This record gives sequence, structure tokens and C-alpha cells, in this order.
Amino acid sequence: PVQIKISRFLLGGRTLVLGAVRDVSDRINVEVALQASGERMELLAANVAEMLAVLDLNGRYTYVSPASVSVGGQSPSDLLGHLAQEFVHPDDWGSVQSGMHEALGQHGRCARTYRRKQSDGTYRWVETSMRPVMGKDGQPLELVISVRDISDRIRQGQQDVLRSQFFEQLVRRNRLDDILRLLVAFVECAHDGLMCMILLVEEGRAHPNLITSAQLPDSFRSVIETAWQDKTLGAISSSEFLQERNLVEDIDALPVQSVIRLACQQAGFRACWSEPIRGEGGVILGSISAYRTFCSQAGMEDIRTLEAAAEMASVAILRKRSDDELQLALSVYNVSKEGIMVTGPDNSIVQVNPSFTTITGYEIQDVLGKNPRILSSGRNTRAVYQDMWKSLSTKNHWQGEVLNRRKNGQEYNEWLTISVIRGPDGSAQRYVGMFADITEWKNAQDVIVRQANFDTLTGLPNRRLFRDRLEHEMKKMDRDRGQLALMFIDLDHFKEVNDTLGHDAGDQLLVEASKRMGSCVRASDTVARLGGDEFAVILAGVPNAQLAERVASEIIAMLEEPFHVKSEAAHVSASVGITFYPNDAEDAESLMKNADQAMYAAKSQGRDRFSWFTDSMQKEAEERLMLANDLREALAVGGLKVYYQPIVDLRTGRVVKAEALIRWHHPTLGEISPPRFIPIAEETGQINILGSWIFRQSAILAKKWVDWAHAQGDEELAKIIRISVNKSPKQFHAHTTFNNWVDILKEIDLHPSHMVIEITENLFLGDHVDIAQKLQRFRDVGMALSLDDFGTGYSSLGYLKKYEVDYLKMDQSFVRGMLDQASDRAIAEAILAMASRLGLDVVAEGIEHPEQRDFLAKAGCRYGQGFLFWKAMPEEEFLALVTNSMAPV
Ligand code: C2E
Ligand code: MG
Ligand code: MG
Repeated sequence: PVQIKISRFLLGGRTLVLGAVRDVSDRINVEVALQASGERMELLAANVAEMLAVLDLNGRYTYVSPASVSVGGQSPSDLLGHLAQEFVHPDDWGSVQSGMHEALGQHGRCARTYRRKQSDGTYRWVETSMRPVMGKDGQPLELVISVRDISDRIRQGQQDVLRSQFFEQLVRRNRLDDILRLLVAFVECAHDGLMCMILLVEEGRAHPNLITSAQLPDSFRSVIETAWQDKTLGAISSSEFLQERNLVEDIDALPVQSVIRLACQQAGFRACWSEPIRGEGGVILGSISAYRTFCSQAGMEDIRTLEAAAEMASVAILRKRSDDELQLALSVYNVSKEGIMVTGPDNSIVQVNPSFTTITGYEIQDVLGKNPRILSSGRNTRAVYQDMWKSLSTKNHWQGEVLNRRKNGQEYNEWLTISVIRGPDGSAQRYVGMFADITEWKNAQDVIVRQANFDTLTGLPNRRLFRDRLEHEMKKMDRDRGQLALMFIDLDHFKEVNDTLGHDAGDQLLVEASKRMGSCVRASDTVARLGGDEFAVILAGVPNAQLAERVASEIIAMLEEPFHVKSEAAHVSASVGITFYPNDAEDAESLMKNADQAMYAAKSQGRDRFSWFTDSMQKEAEERLMLANDLREALAVGGLKVYYQPIVDLRTGRVVKAEALIRWHHPTLGEISPPRFIPIAEETGQINILGSWIFRQSAILAKKWVDWAHAQGDEELAKIIRISVNKSPKQFHAHTTFNNWVDILKEIDLHPSHMVIEITENLFLGDHVDIAQKLQRFRDVGMALSLDDFGTGYSSLGYLKKYEVDYLKMDQSFVRGMLDQASDRAIAEAILAMASRLGLDVVAEGIEHPEQRDFLAKAGCRYGQGFLFWKAMPEEEFLALVTNSMAPV
């Protein structure tokens, strides 16, 4: 190939054409090569990730490689002719501009990092290098630049920094909020303008915990907070915030309206990506979410960032929680009432808690590095320690009681639990000892033992301990061939003291009485309180009966002395039963029964005395049992009869009333007196059937008598006829008695006013709380109440008033003593005077002599009853008497 170059010249009006032919084969080769290399360049430029561009000296793009699309989203045509400055973040332009000058200047090249505007308006970090193209004159013609997107690298770097800060703070145990704020930044550095929020939910917390970046508008926060309080977030939280990853590219395109959507719209957010924060077992701890102001799809990198942030958040939260737990454990350690002592592998003390100091008196500095031996009282057995170490080496655990000594020397009992903490190699690293001071507890234990064996009021052994001691002493007597005396002591009239002066007075009396009894015996003897006002004394090794008698007499004399309680003098006496071992019984049970019987014998002999247990008492006990059986039979076959003892009006001598008295003719034993079998009937419960039967018989008699009086036209007599029936306190226990008796009267057609119920003061001493009420029911239907044996019991005026009795029966003991004892006369007169003031009629019992009758009549006693007039008699006899011989005696 040749090249023809034709040149035209104008020379003086003439055109000169010059042609030159040149062999250009070489040159063409070069051009082809050039063209090929240009295409290659294009190809290269289009295929490298970097964008290549040429800027003219004004900074306008004159060439842009196709890679511009991947770097900034703009196609080459979007950039050509535009100033480079348009695509540089204003803050970075200065730096870029200076770089361009540098490149054009003597340096000839320069590199800069700046934020480059993307087609979507956001910026990304790019790195650019610039080189000038020089003209022949050595002047730069243009600038060739390459632009590389380094956002990822930058982000990576920033995130790396944040990540290490995060772990650093985590280790330093900084506040959870501060740590999480790093994660907000961590997420936010992924994109310019990205806003992040971490929402923490905690069970039982009223408010969510929101950790947000400064950029996030406050309004957005408050919408979330309000929604949470309104519980509306409950619904959204499940779908939009929590549970699962949620990548919303365009909030406006969401199909449903929701609080979050509204909040986003208000804040100007279009895209929202969120990732749940999960704890152990997938439990939702919260969520981490990122917002953008324009529609945006989360890329792989974004998802990875959110995932990483959520994971780190989870670590931080869990760490915080376990820290809290540790804190809790620490506070337990600090506030525990139990002393805690930690020792090292060599068993020297490394740590103690405050309670350790409280219990032992040792401060940490006193014991640090020392062996726990310093606490020992030196009084624990070797076996304790041997057992301890053996158990620790085999079971890593020991529990037991040890006696230790406080710093002040005082000993104390501790309940100690030791656990061994072993290292990975199995060697003991720590021994953790926890102990409680159980000294007080042990004392309490002693009190419990005391309470089980001693009477709390008097401090004397109780029935239980008494039994033990008795058996113990009996065995000792067997060995020593000795004998012991057992005494049962019952305080007479104690109930009265209790009733009138109150229980605390009664208690005081018992305490004082127990002291007095104690003063009568040797230290080796036992005085016990069996219950209530019953005491027992064991005199071991008594040589003879006289000594026992002397002690008994002394006790009786001591108890007769007045007791000063509540600034009043109270009087009691004692009935003592004495029995001997081994003479009277072989075992403790029988011995106690003997003492009991002897005591009852003393009581029935008139109290204030002692009685020996005798064989006859044994017989008596057997007899009582027999009588109980016979009585049952007598009841069935009609061996019992009701007799009536007339009661005379002392002014007229006329029989106007009678007392029903039960009589039992035993087939072999003959007559058995009521005082002998009534108590048996009471014990066996037969008293109720018996009592009702007596009442019925008496009512039938009354009916006959009243009818007779009517028939006689003696209406005055008919009106005042009364038959009294004795009723034992036991009968008041039965609830049916009242209705039963009223029915009987209805059946017989007798007005209740003809019946009188005789009661004794014992009734008031018992534990019947509703006795007044029960008595009132009888009075309400018209029956009268009579207080029997008045003067022998407590004879309280209070009872008379409280129970509204109609008649007083003056006890025969006063009537008997009346003739020769001034005191009895005085009492009789006093009773009569008092009765008249209270408007009560008095029936004097046991009148046997006319003088007694006369005295009583003169003193104002209205009625009399006694052998002087008549003994009790059968019904027929009585009716014959009242209907025929009405003559006064
Ligand atoms: P009480 O109710 O005080 O009865 C009076 C007792 O004195 C009767 O004894 C009577 O026979 C007796 N007596 C009457 N006049 C004289 C007298 O001039 N001299 C002497 N020495 N005694 C006289 P009795 O019948 O042996 O009854 C004794 C007690 O037995 C009664 O005392 C009463 O408490 C009880 N009793 C008798 N019958 C019954 C009854 O049917 N039911 C109940 N629950 N107790 C009864
Ligand atoms: Mg009576
Ligand atoms: Mg009587």
C-alpha cells in the first residue's frame, strides 16, 4: 500500500497541487494494530469492574466506560458531557478537586476516596485514581480516571471496628443500651441514610426497650411506644417486628394498614427490613430493624448484616441476663442469712460472706488464708471430721452438725453443708461451706422436749415423764429390793377458786401449791402434775409406811394454808391416796389405779385427808363393776322403785310436797343406797333412762294427788302440790331430756308447775356452758328449780341469782348440828335470812328432832323434810298418807 498525499497550495493566484506517493505498508500495519488495540481497550474497559473515564481539563466526562453502570448505576451516556463534580459528595469535592490538581501537576498521578452519587441519589464510597494524558508540549491534555466502588470494603472496615468495640464493651460489661447502640451503628453503616432501631421485649415489662440511632425521628419512637402501651403492637409485633425476618421493599405497597406502616409513612420511610433477635431455644428477645426513605430491596449483604447484628444483640442480651443472675447470686451470697465460706484447694479460706462475720464474729481479714480449723471448738469428735472428708472425697458433699467457737470464745452449734467444686482434672478447686447457727434452734428443741415432758405452768414433770420415772423407780426398787410409795393428790375445792377468782388466780394457786408440795419431799423424789388439780408424788426407797404418812400429812397441812392470789385468800385442801410398790401392785398401771382409788376414798371420806390403798378398795372396784351389771338388769326387770318423802309446810304441818327418791332392792345384797349406785349409773350412762323413768313415775303420782285434791274441792292444795325429782348433772348432757319430759307431762296431762327439778351446785362447776339456757327451758314451761344440799358446796349467791332457782334445800348437816353447834345455827339463820331477801322458799332437810323443826320454823323456814315427819315411802303408802291421814305431826 502507498499513501498519496495531495496538497494544494495557492501561489500568486495559482493553485498548486502537489502529490506525494509514499509506501505506507508499514504504517497501515500500525493503524490496524492501533485499531485493534482500541477495540481491545474498549473491550477491556467494558469488562473490568472499575469504571474508566476521561475528563477534559474542565472536569467534564469525555469518555466513560460501560462499567459506570455497575459502579454508580449510570450509563455512560448519563455521564458524558457532565461535570465530574456533579457526582461527588459536596463534602468530598474539595478533596477530589485537590487530587485532580495534583494529578495534573507535577505529581502526575493521584488517588482519592470519596462518596460518589448513585443513580438513586444515594452515595457510595469509591476510590479513584487519576492520571493525566500529556501533550507533546509536556502539557496535560486530559485526565484518565478509574473509579472503583469500595463501599463494601469501607463498610466492612467500619463494621469491623464496631464489632470489636462491641466485644470490648461486652467484656467490660458496659450498659446493655450502650452496647446495642453500637449494633445500631453497625447496621447503619451498611448504607448511607439507613436508620436502625432495636426493640427489646421482656416478659412482664410494661414498656418495650427501644434503642435507636439519633437519626431516627422521635415521632417514630413515640408511635411505637404508644402502640405498645395500647397493646396494639401485640398484633403487629408478631407479624411485622418479631417472629421472623421481614423485608419490606415498599411499605406503601403493603396490603394491610398497620400502626407500623402509619408510623413509617409519617416518618417518611418506604423500606423496612427487620430481623428477630432470638435467645436460647429460639425465644424472641426483640427485633432489629432498618429503615430507608425510599423503596429498597435488601441485598444479600444487608441480610447478612442484620443477621450478624441480631446475633450479636442476642449475645449481649443473654450476657446481660446471666450477669443479672450472677448479680443475683452475688446478692444472695451477700444477704444470705447463712454463713458462707469458700476455701481453696489447700482448704485455706479465700472468701467469706457478711453472715459469716455476723455468726462467727470474724472479719474477712481475720480469716483470709487461714484454715477453717480456727473456728473449731475443739469439741467435735474425730469421727465427725473423718466422716466429713470421706464424704467430700466420694460424694463431693457433706452435711452435719458441728460445734464451733465464735471470735469471742462463745460456742455455737452450726449446721454445715460443704460442697466441693472440682476442676476439669478432677482435683478439688474450691470447698464451699454454708452454715447456719442452730444454737437457738437447738434451744427451742430443748423447749419442745421440755414441753413434751414438763408441765408448762408449774414446771413439774407431766404425766408422761411421771410414768417414765415411775417405771424407772420401780425397776430400781426391784434391783435394790426397796419399796416406793406413790401418792395421788387432788386439790379439793379448786374448781370453786377457778370459777370465782378466774383462771389466772387458779393458775397462781397451782404454781404455789406445786412449790409447797415440792418443799415436803426430798430432791430425789418426784412431784408431778398429772393434769388439772391432780398431782402425784413418788417417794422412792421409803423404809416404812409411817414416813409416807408423814409426808402426806405434811402436804395436806401445807395445802390447807391459805393461798394469796389476786390479793385474796383462797382456801383449798387435799385428798391424798397412797399406795406401795411392790406390796399393792406388780405394774405401774395397777399401781396408779390403786393410788387413784385411795384418793377417791379419801375424798369420799370427807376430803382433806389421806387414805391408804387397801384390799377392800380393790374389792370395791370389783363390786362397782358388778353393780353396774346388776343395775342394768334391775332396770330391765323392775327391781327399782321410786319412794316419796313427804315435805311438810312447817307453819301448818301439812304435807304439800314430796321428794322422789330412788330405791333399789338388790336380790342378794339387799337395799343399795342411791349414793352408792347413782354414781355408777352416771358412769355407765344408765342415769338417763333411769332419770326419765323416775320423772314419769313421779309425774303420775303428782297427777293422782292433784286429781284427788280437785276431787276434794281443795283447790288451794291442788295449786301448791309439788313433787321434786333429783336430776344429776350428767343428765343435762343428754339433749333429748327436755322434750322427753315435756312429752311425758303432756301424755299424763299434768301441768308442769307440779314438778320441781332438784339440782346440786356441782352442776354449775362442770364445763356445761349452756347450763343456764337448759335450765331456763324447764322454767319457761313452768317447772320449778330447787337447789339441793345448799351449804355444802360453794354456796355462791351468784349462782342463786344467775340460775334463778325457786327453792333452796338447806343441807341436813346444818340441821343436824343445829342443836349443839352455834356455828351451824348461825349459818342456818344466815341462809334463811338471805333466802327471804332473795324471795326463795327454803326446805330444811333431815329434820329428826322437834327442836330442829321448831328452831327452823321460828327462824322463818317454810318447809321441812325428815325422819321426824316421814321417811321416803312407796307410792301407795304416800297416797294413802296424803289422802287419809292429813293430820299434822
Ligand atoms: P338428797 O337429794 O339430798 O336426798 C335426801 C336424802 O336424805 C335421801 O337419802 C333421804 O332418804 C335422806 N333423808 C331424808 N330425811 C332424813 C333424815 O331425817 N335423816 C337422815 N339421816 N337422812 C334423811 P337417799 O334417799 O339415800 O338419797 C341420797 C341421795 O341420793 C340424794 O340426796 C340424792 O342426791 C341422791 N338420789 C336419791 N334419789 C335419786 C334419784 O332418783 N335421782 C338422783 N339423781 N339422785 C337421787
Ligand atoms: Mg334431793
Ligand atoms: Mg339433799
